[in-house]
Amino acid sequence: MLRTLAKGTATVLAKNMRERRREVELLAQTPLFVRAPLDSKDFDASLGRLHQSYAYYSWIGLVDIHGQVLHATNNNLVGENVSSRPWFQHSQQGTYVGDLHEAALLAGLLRNKIHEWPIRFIDFAAPVYDQKGQLRAVLGAHAHWRWTSDAINEVMPDDARQRKIEIFIVNSNNEIIYPDHPEKLPGSPVVPKKYKTDDSGFHEWGSNEYYLTTVAAVSEPVADNKWPLNWKVMVRQPRDQVLSEVNKLQRIVTLIVAAAAVVFIFLAWMLGDYISRPIIQLSKLAKKVSDGGEKILFNVSANSKELKELNSAMEDMAATLLARKHALEDANKDLQSTVAERTAELEAANQELSQLARRDALTGLSNRLAANERLLHEFHRMMRNQEQYAVLMMDIDFFKKVNDTYGHATGDAVLTHVANQIQTSLRKTDFAGRVGGEEFLIILPKTNLENAISIAEKIRQNIKTSHVDPVGHISVSIGVAMAAPAQESAQTAVDQADKGLYAAKQAGRDRVASV
Ligand code: GH3
Ligand code: MG
Ligand code: MG
Repeated sequence: MLRTLAKGTATVLAKNMRERRREVELLAQTPLFVRAPLDSKDFDASLGRLHQSYAYYSWIGLVDIHGQVLHATNNNLVGENVSSRPWFQHSQQGTYVGDLHEAALLAGLLRNKIHEWPIRFIDFAAPVYDQKGQLRAVLGAHAHWRWTSDAINEVMPDDARQRKIEIFIVNSNNEIIYPDHPEKLPGSPVVPKKYKTDDSGFHEWGSNEYYLTTVAAVSEPVADNKWPLNWKVMVRQPRDQVLSEVNKLQRIVTLIVAAAAVVFIFLAWMLGDYISRPIIQLSKLAKKVSDGGEKILFNVSANSKELKELNSAMEDMAATLLARKHALEDANKDLQSTVAERTAELEAANQELSQLARRDALTGLSNRLAANERLLHEFHRMMRNQEQYAVLMMDIDFFKKVNDTYGHATGDAVLTHVANQIQTSLRKTDFAGRVGGEEFLIILPKTNLENAISIAEKIRQNIKTSHVDPVGHISVSIGVAMAAPAQESAQTAVDQADKGLYAAKQAGRDRVASV
């Protein structure tokens, strides 16, 4: 901003000086100035018109080649000799714009209405040539320096004073020519020693006072000027002021950044919420599925295509999982019932097998394995509750003869017949088994010897009196023994019954015997 101000000021100054120079130059070339006798009164009128055209002209005069003033506005200095003035000397060789100077001759003539100090002027002068190109006079003009302050006031920003911005014009000797009398300004500014034109930087302006300073050159009002002005416009602002403005700007920027950050965080949070909420809802639904929930509605209000797809994909997945789970449960149920069925069948088969293993296939009676188990069971029961039981060993008499006479099939039929006779002769709690070819073992629980003998007798009688085709009547021999707790094992009573049977056989068969 300071640089723009410096350049703008320099441009305004240069333009103004060029305009004045041009005015003086053009006037010097008018026919009046070229041809009219130098004592013509027309010059006074012409000079007066130029004076009127620009408010800051203080004096305009026509001077002969010897330096004598011939005509002048308000007749000031007419007749005076100005041959020693630089503007007169220099302008004989070409248009001249002179450096600022205090009014030397005019001081006494012009009243200083504004300031106490002397009025200062800037000189414009142009040579006047006749038709042959001979120098015949010099046209000079003094412009009041006040025009600079008016021009600068126009370009100065409104808040310049508040921001402590100041404009200086410095001549080729680095002296301040604007404002007037810088030594009377507060702080007595001293132009910095080192600075670069068209550049900016912090420079000391005396008394250790630093200013941000920017310098712009004022372009020369006369092209190929032999006496260049080398003016510069310097604009300065105190360092503290610059830094406070920078700090203020920094604070504003910080505030804006902070506000933007808050807005951004809020937007990010909103966006995050916008994105994550449906995902959280989906994950809750997925958790319900994993906890075994079945009627779960995947109705997450998804905002994006991807989330909608995810929602429906998870819904499909849940449906598939559920269908598989049900299928698995059904299969499991089938498997369980099949296993139960098979187990029951196996148990039945085992039971059947167990029964078959303990049953005599021919007669349907128990076999030796079952007889041994029952003997052991009865023996143990007797050891517990002292209840006696009787053991009968029975053998068919002369059975070999039956086989030999009628054949093996008839022998089998006889065996079945005998078995039936035994069964019908016994109580439900009694036991009968075929333990050898035509040998039977009978157990009578809770029975004493007397009763056992009578039951044996009853069996023998029943068989003896029954009739079997084509054999007719057959007889059996039976040995009876009592089991007693004192006995060594279940086999003891069986061995004694065997001995009884042997005795019955020995005694002629078809009888009951006990030892
Ligand atoms: P005893 O007992 O009176 O001394 O004479 P026995 O003829 O019965 O004597 P033995 O014990 O020698 O004969 C038994 C016969 O029983 C021998 C065998 O052929 C026959 N036998 C054994 N088991 C079966 C069977 O399951 N079916 C048939 N038909 N005969 C059998
Ligand atoms: Mg036998
Ligand atoms: Mg026999």
